[in-house]
Amino acid sequence: MKKKQILLALLTLIVPGLLLTACQSKQAEKPSATWTAEEEALVHSYNDSIMRLWLVESASDSLFLRQACTPLTREDVADTLFQQLKHQMLLTVTNPENEGVGIAAPQVGIGRRLVAVQRLDKAGEPFEFYINPRFTYLSPDKQTGWEGCLSIPGRRGKVQRSTHVVLQYNDETTFELCTDTVRGFTAIIFQHELDHLDGTLYTDRADTVLIR
Ligand SMILES: [Zn+2]
Repeated sequence: MKKKQILLALLTLIVPGLLLTACQSKQAEKPSATWTAEEEALVHSYNDSIMRLWLVESASDSLFLRQACTPLTREDVADTLFQQLKHQMLLTVTNPENEGVGIAAPQVGIGRRLVAVQRLDKAGEPFEFYINPRFTYLSPDKQTGWEGCLSIPGRRGKVQRSTHVVLQYNDETTFELCTDTVRGFTAIIFQHELDHLDGTLYTDRADTVLIR
């Protein structure tokens, strides 16, 4: 074998070896959470207290509320920031001076797919959080009910919603997809909160009858 051929043969052995090492080191690298510096600063600024609500009365808040939210990754949920955000959202929605039955992350300035819903259909009516929720079924049967929103103070409206829904979301611990079927007023709360994640307020719905 000539010198040149030997050199080429060696190179073909070495180069894939180098590439493999590069790929392995990348795979071994632990993925990090995708919280932005702004989101971290905002959540930390409350130091376990009630958060400011984003309101339609403010032009910049209103624009933010009309944006579609981004999904949470497994790493976002494992991050301590997630626990602090949940705790503060719960304090905000259960504020005795301004109580709600549900809250979506964009209402506290966090554009992520996270909601808390008061499960009026469960014993003790607990608030539960749902990560990356979406409907896999919305019944064609509708019910009309009164709705208000923490982001739209002093207003109420009659809104048409599905009587029952099937929901899919990520489990907080395993991140596996879970399914839940919800009926009645709790189904209305879910539809109201999930609308927030797509930038829709109940007042934006064409079938809403607004009462001041
Ligand atoms: Zn709302």
